[in-house]
Amino acid sequence: MYQAPRGTADILPEEQPYWRYVEKVIAEVTLLYGYQRIDSPTFEETGLFTRSVGEGTDLVDKEMYAFDDKGGKSLTLRPEGTASVCRAYIQHGMSNLPQPVKLYYVCPIFRYDRPQAGRYRQHYQFGCECFGEDDPIMDAEVIDLAWRFFKTLGLRKLSLHLNNIGCKECRPAYLKTLKNYYSKHTNSLCTDCKNRLEKNPLRLLDCKQASCQHIAENAPHSIDALCPACASHFAQLQKYLGLLRIPFIINNRLVRGLDYYTRTVFEIQPEEEGSQSALGGGGRYDGLIEQLGGKPTPALGFGLGIERIILNIKKENISVPAPPALQVFIAYMGDAARDKALKLASDLRQSGVSVIMSSGEKSLKAQLRQANSLGAKWTLIIGDEEVKAGTVTLRDMADASQKTVIFSEIVSHLKL
Ligand code: AMP
Repeated sequence: MYQAPRGTADILPEEQPYWRYVEKVIAEVTLLYGYQRIDSPTFEETGLFTRSVGEGTDLVDKEMYAFDDKGGKSLTLRPEGTASVCRAYIQHGMSNLPQPVKLYYVCPIFRYDRPQAGRYRQHYQFGCECFGEDDPIMDAEVIDLAWRFFKTLGLRKLSLHLNNIGCKECRPAYLKTLKNYYSKHTNSLCTDCKNRLEKNPLRLLDCKQASCQHIAENAPHSIDALCPACASHFAQLQKYLGLLRIPFIINNRLVRGLDYYTRTVFEIQPEEEGSQSALGGGGRYDGLIEQLGGKPTPALGFGLGIERIILNIKKENISVPAPPALQVFIAYMGDAARDKALKLASDLRQSGVSVIMSSGEKSLKAQLRQANSLGAKWTLIIGDEEVKAGTVTLRDMADASQKTVIFSEIVSHLKL
């Protein structure tokens, strides 16, 4: 028996109302902020991700679904959403449009990760990217969008973590201080952190190993090493978040896993859990467009994990709209009635009425049972007599009351 590949899941019909609900809120909230939807290919040239996300990150080194196509080109299933949108921004000359350009996406993301609760090999993200503005008011707006999205969904038990990891001016000096500090503790570090010290020192701060916690807790803070421009950017962002009444926690250990971030980084986490269960995060990436061959363009954005959002919708007992009930089930008895039923189903659908028609040869009792289990509001019953008389029996499934209705008047009876 085949199974869905490890770390992937089918989204079965009973789960769909959650997904439709999240999609509806995404469409509403992005519209409020003037974001336009973009859909990019599921795979890209591998170089796009190694260049943007960066070698030395877990995502690139361990988690990419990379493969050579039949022409020998290395392609990778999208392991995050930002790089593709940046590629599209450059490829389609969007720097010539009035800035900022605001784009959003909803798409599957592929990561060869160890599957566990809330961590899959294919998951979906809703992301927003905003290009061409370095004013911290845009950082506040992007965070406000994410925050409003969660609030509109009805999620309450969330906290916003915020940090600033500097820019290309001030980051090198901070990394030096960080490395100096950590090199005094090399013997106590986990194997991953020993590697990070060489390859990606910022990631030392978000190590989850118990033995590294004490060291990371006491590490120097990036916000104490910001250049005046970054410090002022951060101060203004905090002021704006205050004006918007968005509560935040400054988290000195928040660095995000990818190389391209500059200045603002943020994450939204369920209140009582750690960053392992983050619902989403993002930040600025002011150097990325240039790094990918575009003009220097400040930019920022976020990605939110839809599966984890749905887990939290369920945890917080938020009720989501049920799909519309089936309006009509058509039951028939005999060959002539079947022909009539087929035509009737088609006519009703043409009038916008949802119909499931019986099939095969079943007793009336079995057909009514089927109508019940489908949750139909009405059942139309057609037998030989009805065919002759040009009528149907209309049964209200709520109270089992029945009446005879002539064919041409069925729709008006259903709309009563
Ligand atoms: P990231 O950019 O890696 O922080 O991912 C953004 C969000 O996507 C995370 O906060 C999670 O909600 C979600 N996410 C990331 N990786 C996974 C995964 N392997 N399985 C499920 N959701 C994920």
